[in-house]
Amino acid sequence: MKKIITIGEIVVEIMAVETGNGFLSAISLIGPFASGAPAIFIDQAAKLGQPCGIVSAVGNDDFGVLNVERLRNDGADVSAIAVHPTAATGSAFVRYRQDGNRDFIFNIKHSACSAIGLTPQAEALVETADHLHIMGSALFSDGIVAAIHEATRRIKAKGGTISFDPNIRKEMLELPGMREALGHALENTDLFMPSGAEIFLFTQATEEKAAVAELLARGIKAVVIKRGAEGASYFDASGETIAPAFKVEEVDPTGAGDSFGAAFVTCWLRGMAADKALVIANATGARAVGVKGPMEGTSSMAEIEAFLAARNLSGV
Ligand code: ATP
Repeated sequence: MKKIITIGEIVVEIMAVETGNGFLSAISLIGPFASGAPAIFIDQAAKLGQPCGIVSAVGNDDFGVLNVERLRNDGADVSAIAVHPTAATGSAFVRYRQDGNRDFIFNIKHSACSAIGLTPQAEALVETADHLHIMGSALFSDGIVAAIHEATRRIKAKGGTISFDPNIRKEMLELPGMREALGHALENTDLFMPSGAEIFLFTQATEEKAAVAELLARGIKAVVIKRGAEGASYFDASGETIAPAFKVEEVDPTGAGDSFGAAFVTCWLRGMAADKALVIANATGARAVGVKGPMEGTSSMAEIEAFLAARNLSGV
């Protein structure tokens, strides 16, 4: 089986249970939850039984242990997670507004994540990889961007593949070097996975079908557009495959896109047809939104099979 790696942040998330006027009036918090988009992605790939690993860094603290043990227990290769001698594990505080939007306070850039780079252990992991998944959220430091460039070069040189989920937060776009880093990821990607209107940040076209055509003409093999509660679409040279979402109660949307992405990439690397891969990825996303905590709703293949069987579908 092909080995997937990703490079980026591991954090703990602390969540406001009750919302009010920002964090000032948050009454109670829950957590810490294992989190970080690349960590959620790799946890989900591991749970599906795909060989996978992450290049990252945590502090020499309980939050680091919580994350590393979680990934290790779920089957991910944690050999390239460095332990920073002094800086703490990254953290994120999240609160949900009544309108469904989220506010975050991040402490990532100056956390242990600042040490993420191509250590000898990371180089060894890249050596074993067939596929690199790039997440836009990880492109916040020069060290990570350089590591992703080098891993991209090495994996492509040996015939491997790249997927890219821009996962963009508005405030990130103006960071120095961010647009160049996103452009470099796009140029090298085989499978592009934006959510909704994110695609237009990468195209001249302002209409979806034209935007996809523009990307395919630039050499991207396939595009998957995530559409939240509407499901997802897959596009390649032969056209569009549409798959509606499963109807579930959304308890916590954080991590749905990362879980969906890991399931789709896993199925794609296993050579599964797009319609089937979309069903499995939609089921994975639906299970993720049904559970509180960013990484608490990741699924094993048995859980996905049970979810589908309960809906008279067999996807696998
Ligand atoms: P995030 O950045 O919050 O992780 P995203 O914007 O990358 O998410 P979404 O499109 O929100 O990704 O969700 C990914 C997938 O998860 C969807 O394509 C869908 O399959 C599933 N999903 C998301 N929200 C829901 C929902 N409310 N009901 C059912 N499925 C959902």
